[in-house]
Formats: sequence, C-alpha cells, structure tokens
Amino acid sequence: MENTKKLITILVPAYNEQEVINLLYERLQKIMDSQTNYNFEVLFVNDGSKDDTLKLIQNLRKTDSRICYLNLSRNFGKETAMIAGLDYSKGDCVIIIDADLQDPPELIPDMIKLWEEGYDDVYAKRKSRKGETFMKKFTSKMYYRTLQSVTNIEIQKDTGDFRLLDRRCVEALKSIRESQRYTKGLFSFIGYNKKEILYDRDPRAAGQTKWNYGKLINLSIDGLTSFTTAPLRWAAIIGILVSFAGFIYMLAIIFKTLFYGIDVPGYSSTMVVILFLGGIQLIFLGVIGEYLGRTFNETKYRPLYFIDCYNEEKETNKNLNNKHYKE
Ligand code: UDP
Ligand code: MG
Repeated sequence: MENTKKLITILVPAYNEQEVINLLYERLQKIMDSQTNYNFEVLFVNDGSKDDTLKLIQNLRKTDSRICYLNLSRNFGKETAMIAGLDYSKGDCVIIIDADLQDPPELIPDMIKLWEEGYDDVYAKRKSRKGETFMKKFTSKMYYRTLQSVTNIEIQKDTGDFRLLDRRCVEALKSIRESQRYTKGLFSFIGYNKKEILYDRDPRAAGQTKWNYGKLINLSIDGLTSFTTAPLRWAAIIGILVSFAGFIYMLAIIFKTLFYGIDVPGYSSTMVVILFLGGIQLIFLGVIGEYLGRTFNETKYRPLYFIDCYNEEKETNKNLNNKHYKE
C-alpha cells in the first residue's frame, strides 16, 4: 500500500530567508501530516543565501527525512532557482511556493484536490495583495495589461509562481532551456489543463523582499522580449510612417524652393527634424539591441545553473540536461 501513494514535491526557492524557514516548515508540516494519502518531499533550493538559510534547512533535514535541499553554487535568481528545483524534483506533481509565507500553504490541499480531478496546472490567483504599495500594485497591473496586448498566449493576471504542476507540465518546463527565463510566461506557453483558485496574498512573514524596481524592470523587459517580437514590428511601422512623412516634407520643400526661391532661415525646422529622427533611431537601436542581446545570451548555451550539493552529496555538473551538452 505504502508505495502506491503518490509523491508530491513542494519546491521552495530560498534566498536569505533565515527568518522564515522554521515558520514555513511548521506550516508545511501541518499540511503534510494532514494529507495522509500522499508522500511528500520538500525541496528547498538555496539560491546562494549569505545568511544561515542553508544551515537551518540542514537542521530540518536531520529531523525530517522529507526535507531535501539543493544548494546552488551562487545566487542565480528565483527564475533559475525554480528550474533547478524542477530538474531535481521527483514528485508526481510539484507545488512551487515562496519561502516568505506570502503564499499560504493552507491552499495546498485544495490544489491537490483539483489536481486529482484532472487539472494539470492549478495556480493561485491573488484576490488582494496586503502589505504591498499602491505603486507596486499599479505598475504590475499596467504591465500585465501591456504584455497581454502584444502576445498571443494568455498571460494570467495577478498570479505569482504559487501553483501545482503535474509531472507533464514539469517535464515541459524542463525542456525549455532558455537562460533568460520568464517563468510566468512559460507557464502559459506550455498550455495544458489550467485551473485557478483565489486567495488573499499575505504580507511577508518576516525578512525583506528581494525585489526592487531595477530587478522588476529587468524582469518586465525579459518578459516582453522573450514572448514577442512586437517591438521590432513597431519599430518597422513607425519607421515607415516617419519616412513617409519625411518624403512628403521633402516634396513640399522642393516645391517651395522651385516656386518661391530659397528661404534661408530654417534652423528650427532642421533642428526639430534632426533631433526627432535621431531620438527615434536611438530608441529603435535600443530595441534591436535588446533582441540581439537575448540572441547573444541564448547562443552561448551556458548551463543555467551550477549545483554545489544535492542533500549531502557534492555535485559536479552532469545536471545540465542541456541539449547542447554532451556527457
Ligand atoms: N528568491 C530566490 N532568489 C533570489 C530572490 C528571491 O530564490 O535571487 C526567492 C525568495 O527566497 C522567495 C521568493 O523567491 O522565496 C520570492 O522572493 P520575494 O519574496 O523577495 O519576492 P516578492 O514576494 O516580493 O515578489
Ligand atoms: Mg515575497
């Protein structure tokens, strides 16, 4: 009977989370103990924490064999920590949850229920976001709206990474090895049978958010450039419009010169045209540069991450399942 139980992996990316690890474990433990029909594995991915996060996880592992951990060789960022965790997860499904208890673990039983009903991707959608500033909520809303308007795939609004993924979703995500990952978009990209559940997002239990506007802006640009080449299209369209306007203006000037003679003062109009065109060109060079940069990064085919150790074992890199990597 014992080995017919399904295994559920709870994947926790953690970076400098010493204040919350034990709290999180207590909450998870209650949930896991109540779900007696399943076996659990809690896989912490320590993303190069500089505090005692790893030590706390190791301590937990001494008393509870369900705890596993993956120690990355340095801080790679949450997106990469997640794919590393997915690579090492063993469960029939994987539940991704933040370490800071902003995602209530109490939702897990409901997620499992829906999974058993046949959904492959049960994602938690925030009804509210306590403890987050108006600016953060506003910018995030505007961003999702913009992203949605330029991509064909459906982007889920107000949804973080807190979700349950069936094994086949996990395998799908694992097969996508791009290095500038925008996981939120990838969840939509893979498709499968999705189901949302609503919840109230709590404020962080303790500790500091690792996000700042710089990081968020980077993530948003990654989101845009990894899912759509629309900005390139805009560049082309605006280029056509501007050169069309330029052509008309040229005809007008030729006409004027031929019929009314040369009109010397023209400094302001010349400056306006130079500055305007120069500005547009620089912006679109930037846009092209973004895509070129992405191409550059992806064509290096670097492994996404390096592992220091998986549980007690030191790892060398055969973890890469990168299609360009030969064993
Ligand atoms: N995280 C990570 N690596 C990083 C930054 C964050 O693994 O470089 C983890 C962090 O420990 C937490 C989750 O990602 O479990 C979400 O981070 P945070 O709470 O700082 O983000 P927010 O909730 O403010 O979006
Ligand atoms: Mg958080």
